[in-house]
Amino acid sequence: MSDDPTIFEQIVAGDIPARIVYETDTVAAFLDANPLAPGHTLVVPKEPHERLEDIPDDEAAAVWAAVQELVPQIAAAVDADATTVGVNDGEAAGQEVPHAHVHIVPRFEGDGGGP
Ligand code: 5GP
Repeated sequence: MSDDPTIFEQIVAGDIPARIVYETDTVAAFLDANPLAPGHTLVVPKEPHERLEDIPDDEAAAVWAAVQELVPQIAAAVDADATTVGVNDGEAAGQEVPHAHVHIVPRFEGDGGGP
């Protein structure tokens, strides 16, 4: 693993601008720069754990608590009909940023596909 800070660490540090929608001591969530749908949000542990299995239990619980809190809030904000929650865990699954993150993608009747 590289020692360079990940894009998401730089966002958490405030070095790269992003629209932060949720923040605690251990977790942050911000809008995806290339959204699959309005309101597409990424939830990350602030520590740069690369893979799901690397996240300590307490931080993983905090990430999931954020997801549970954010899903209905985001759906209401963009008037979504449903939500897809997903993780690309590993390069072959499409993980581009080596800092574990959960996608929250609002879904709309007839939108024809997910992440
Ligand atoms: P992955 O393919 O790793 O699961 O998803 C990475 C996500 O991060 C992509 O949806 C991409 O649009 C998003 N992303 C990449 N760089 C940035 C950035 O600098 N800012 C924000 N807000 N999102 C980013």
